[in-house]
Amino acid sequence: MANPVILTVDDDPVVSRAVARDVRRRYGDRYRVVRANSGPEALDALREIKLRGEQVALLLADHRMPEMTGIEFLEAAMDVFPAARRVLLTAYADTDAAIEAINVVDLDYYLLKPWHPPEEKLYPVLDTLLEAWAASPDAALAELRVVGHRWSAPSFKVRDFLARNLVPYRWLLVDEPEGARLLDAAGATEADLPLVVTAEGKTMMAPSQTELAALAGLTVSPATDFYDLVVVGGGPAGLGSAVYGASEGLRTVLVERRATGGQAGQSSRIENYLGFPDGVSGAQLTDRARRQATKFGAELLSTREVVGLSPAGSARLLRFDDGSEIAAHTVVLATGVSYRVLDAPGLSDFTGRGVFYGSTATEAPSCVDQDVYIVGGANSAGQAAVHFSRYASRVHLLIRGADLTASMSRYLIDQLERIDRITVHPHTTVVGGSGEDHLRELTLCDARTGRTRTVPTSWLFIFIGAEPRTDWLDGLVVRDQRGFIVTGPDLLTGRRRPAGWPLGRDPYHLETSLPGVFAAGDVRAQSVKRVASAVGEGAMAVSLVHRYLEAQ
Ligand SMILES: Cc1cc2nc3c(=O)[nH]c(=O)nc-3n(C[C@H](O)[C@H](O)[C@H](O)COP(=O)(O)OP(=O)(O)OC[C@H]3O[C@@H](n4cnc5c(N)ncnc54)[C@H](O)[C@@H]3O)c2cc1C
Repeated sequence: MANPVILTVDDDPVVSRAVARDVRRRYGDRYRVVRANSGPEALDALREIKLRGEQVALLLADHRMPEMTGIEFLEAAMDVFPAARRVLLTAYADTDAAIEAINVVDLDYYLLKPWHPPEEKLYPVLDTLLEAWAASPDAALAELRVVGHRWSAPSFKVRDFLARNLVPYRWLLVDEPEGARLLDAAGATEADLPLVVTAEGKTMMAPSQTELAALAGLTVSPATDFYDLVVVGGGPAGLGSAVYGASEGLRTVLVERRATGGQAGQSSRIENYLGFPDGVSGAQLTDRARRQATKFGAELLSTREVVGLSPAGSARLLRFDDGSEIAAHTVVLATGVSYRVLDAPGLSDFTGRGVFYGSTATEAPSCVDQDVYIVGGANSAGQAAVHFSRYASRVHLLIRGADLTASMSRYLIDQLERIDRITVHPHTTVVGGSGEDHLRELTLCDARTGRTRTVPTSWLFIFIGAEPRTDWLDGLVVRDQRGFIVTGPDLLTGRRRPAGWPLGRDPYHLETSLPGVFAAGDVRAQSVKRVASAVGEGAMAVSLVHRYLEAQ
């Protein structure tokens, strides 16, 4: 395969040559350095590279260019090579524009001119970015292809897994010529679908999540059997713990059963997270957090579910679903919550075939010019409605209450009101669904009149209340009636400590009823269900881990 590309663009020929020369000197043996003299010229080059099936690892653009600014170029380049790392070259006077670009084009870095000596100012930055790119699934698997049926739950599961783990892939329908050709070449039949084909031509029929994870270059096995800290759950709280734990010298492993990012990874735009005035997508935030955690040396295990926890002296043992175990001095439980299942006759038959929980990123492009129904009145449903309105001909938001004011943030309600394609249906519930190979019809009920009506649609997205899945902790740590984990002062009854508490001190603030085991984020009883608070609790849990370890 051809070397991946580093593209530099600057309208000043002297600067342009100097940048390309410095980059080539250090990286020329592993990367092909392409130089352009304007934004449009650079975009043409990118399109050509795309057509040739090559990859772009890094884009380095000067900001002040007459035809198209560096930020405008990087924004357009994201459509062609979204995974390429982006660096803006700026003069000191343009620092504000560069800071703005961090959000607009998800800039990785801005370099101030002049960048000399490059050994100090340029190479360390580019080294880190190229290393991150090379370690990402994008580098290895840019041409992963998935062949499947449009309406097949197993095909959806594969695509959803890849999308949630930020693995780029090409989706081919089996009844399209290219899909049929691949199926034929793999010697497979329609019964074997979904089929996954890697860039190297390796094929896999109906792979399990663990097989997919391995294929995607994600780690699935722990490097050792004893850690200072095991973090269970890879949402914002878990990633927060992993970043702080590893950066503060704890041997840290994070275990995630599905895809890092958790609920936040499903968000199309988080508008209220500090430091991102223009919002940030859950995927971008997750990608950055993941890179940050691994940079500090945390291990991230994917597709591994923790199903058991037990004390063994001062150690804590964690059991995986395959029966294997790891041990640690301390544990942070950051298992969050999962969507409740909508219980209406017929719906469960169509999960993954027209009925979806979350999954906006995977399915939105398929809903072009169709009617989409969304159930839920909270922010997650509102964000989904905004996202789908870019694709669907009409988005119907079904809510039980009279309006959204009690359940959704004002900024989001205002946003929904400005989009003509979105209709909010108050007092409306889904009471049934039907179809053949996929969902074709929904039955809706108006709670005020009790009257029902059917509507034709192939798309129902459900964002109703969420619940913690903590049954596996039954009898081990105190949970409240709904299954949320009780921590710190909430464990005390009057001044009495929880039954069986062995220490001569009260539980620390985020500590559970089992010493050395902490809970952070949505899974914790009384927690604020927000990205910022989850990250904050994840970080705070690590400081309590230190306090616990010091007293041991
Ligand atoms: C669509 C959507 C949009 C949202 N938008 C916003 C927003 O704009 N702003 C905001 O502040 N908040 C928003 N939220 C809420 C926010 O995402 C959550 O509060 C936050 O993600 C909670 O983080 P967490 O780490 O505690 O849990 P989660 O994000 O729920 O992550 C928990 C993780 O643990 C894993 N896990 C569970 N059990 C196990 C196990 N036994 N073994 C291994 N892994 C396990 C799960 O797979 C999951 O990845 C949104 C939520 C959704 C669903």
